[in-house]
Amino acid sequence: MIKFEHVNKTFGDHQALSDINTTFKAHETTVIVGPSGSGKSTLLRSLNLLERPENGLYHFNDQTIDFAKPITGKTMLNIRRKTGMVFQGYNLFPHLSVVKNVMEGPVQVLKQKPAAAKQTALDLLDKVGLADKADAYPGQLSGGQQQRVAIARSLAMNPEYILLDEPTSALDPELEAGVLRVLLALAQEDNSMIIVTHNMEFARAVADKILFVEDGKILFDGTPNEFFKQPTQRISDFLAAMT
Ligand code: ADP
Ligand code: MG
Repeated sequence: MIKFEHVNKTFGDHQALSDINTTFKAHETTVIVGPSGSGKSTLLRSLNLLERPENGLYHFNDQTIDFAKPITGKTMLNIRRKTGMVFQGYNLFPHLSVVKNVMEGPVQVLKQKPAAAKQTALDLLDKVGLADKADAYPGQLSGGQQQRVAIARSLAMNPEYILLDEPTSALDPELEAGVLRVLLALAQEDNSMIIVTHNMEFARAVADKILFVEDGKILFDGTPNEFFKQPTQRISDFLAAMT
């Protein structure tokens, strides 16, 4: 389980995260929504320590980080491994085949044997619907396919939590559907995921819990049912503007 307590992050004089208190349970999918510039990416990136809040506590299972104190390299590495950020598909290595892209981390970082890493990579490519693209190069794939390779690549590192920041924002609706299907299937397998999205229909379908963030504050933390069926005036205005 991940828990943030009283977490604050500023950029210059802008408070990007303001007293964030929330829990991300294992085996649940949390969806973070909110207007542009509200702090969604900062929150997600803080979970992966790509951003460094000034203060507050970060609990990861039985480990606690006090953001006000120095973080050791070992702790940083440990948290990074446990929270796999899925970067946009265009971060794939263009000179490596799809299967090699997925094997790279497990072989280089986790020191897995290439044969075992390859088998895992092929299984993961099958899971994201790309078994037939194992030997293709990223440049030969559509944006949606590249994004699914990026998801497989992240899964290959076997993180405890999978983090995705607007995973389909760069895709046409037709390509988006394939990626969302994969994410829904992962959610149904009880993976632990934290997803930032503007797609409310997807949020409703995939979320065990919704966080609505505005001006760096969590204005709603609850079930999708509550969020969509009994929205506050602010949330109702937000939802109206999204559709
Ligand atoms: P969202 O993902 O909800 O659109 P962000 O978390 O990216 O919002 O940004 C929250 C606020 O922090 C915005 O006002 C943004 O301009 C600011 N911000 C984000 N990253 C930086 C940065 N590296 N330097 C300065 N300001 C930043
Ligand atoms: Mg963002």
